[in-house]
Amino acid sequence: MNILVINAGSSSLKYQLLNPETEELLAKGLCERIGIDGKFTYKPQIEGKEKLDAVDIAMPTHAEAIKTVLNTLVDPKNGVIASMKEIDAVGHRVVHGGEKFAHSVLITDDVMKAIEECIPLAPLHNPANITGIKACQEVMPGVPMVAVFDTAFHQTMPPRAFTYAIPYEYYTQDGIRRYGFHGTSHSYVSKRAAEILDLPIEVLKIVTCHLGNGSSVDAIAGGKSIETSMGFTPLDGLPMGTRCGSIDVSIIEYLMENHNMTIDEVMNILNKKSGMLGVSGVSSDFRDLEKAADEGNERAKLAIDMFCYKTHKRIGSAAAAMNGIDVLIFTAGVGENSPELREKIASGLDFMGVKIDHTRNMVRGKEAIVSTDDSRVKILVIPTNEELVIAQDTASIASGK
Ligand code: ADP
Repeated sequence: MNILVINAGSSSLKYQLLNPETEELLAKGLCERIGIDGKFTYKPQIEGKEKLDAVDIAMPTHAEAIKTVLNTLVDPKNGVIASMKEIDAVGHRVVHGGEKFAHSVLITDDVMKAIEECIPLAPLHNPANITGIKACQEVMPGVPMVAVFDTAFHQTMPPRAFTYAIPYEYYTQDGIRRYGFHGTSHSYVSKRAAEILDLPIEVLKIVTCHLGNGSSVDAIAGGKSIETSMGFTPLDGLPMGTRCGSIDVSIIEYLMENHNMTIDEVMNILNKKSGMLGVSGVSSDFRDLEKAADEGNERAKLAIDMFCYKTHKRIGSAAAAMNGIDVLIFTAGVGENSPELREKIASGLDFMGVKIDHTRNMVRGKEAIVSTDDSRVKILVIPTNEELVIAQDTASIASGK
């Protein structure tokens, strides 16, 4: 069984073709500048097939982008499948499922309507996801499509964790509550940790740190998300590449008044000019920041220090929510690849049984147990694989399991 996984943005579209049973990746790539001019990247994972790197191909709409993907996948010379019939289903990443979706679902007209109703909750993301789904439906009629939501995994959070302390009618009428994101990643790495440790997930208290360009920490008790750092939107929680994370909301009013800014200008600053970029003045990219800090840049050092401190505190808070912690997991760009940041974040948590091993921790981008032998809490590095989760959910729903 082959599943095409689609992650559609407003002008870009990431794709992977994979077999969820064998976990074999056949090809992956990216369509960029859709609606502008069109750049196409294709990385076949089969020996002897040639890749394409940001080549110019006109993609006026998402439908053209999908056609380009399909034509390339079945290309007699460099394709990885013989015909479109070898694509059994398509899995779509959808950012916001609101309270309507606690699981992945087969896309029907009613489901499309419900995803559209979630647009106010994710005005930048859901419209692009919908465009991606419609484009696939147009180009691949009759092929089952499944929606996999970033928010679904967190629907197990209890009301005390998801309720904001504002008048309750804003929750009942407007749906303002904590939703949480990165759900497929937190779900994947927590399950994978249970497999690696050969323990049933039902007995484990797991804290997952998804640290990338966007970052979140999740508390997973018995396999269920019970507390997470991202909120109503992905702006909440940890400071990120360009996002501010949790701040005192009065800052918004203060900035508007003192700098004569509109709400749009302030929100643009908090979303795109804050976080690591804003504090360091150097970059939003952690590799650039580590380099600048090594070269003595004080603000880059401060940005890293602040990020590690806030992540460190969130781990404590996630453990408190579960009255304990058995497993601590690091994943995503920074979590998988930066031993320095992992060590800084995990240091000073020995009071709750977390001890990181300096030498074991020197791994990048592969699964490893990096805690000391006498650490009560197992610390794991696990590369995330959101596409595999999407493909597996899609396969089981499309085959009616
Ligand atoms: P996204 O949220 O966009 O999916 P990723 O999970 O790919 O982001 O993470 C991107 C971040 O990971 C970037 O800030 C990048 O600098 C960081 N990163 C990647 N490799 C390394 C590395 N070797 N050392 C430190 N940071 C890294």
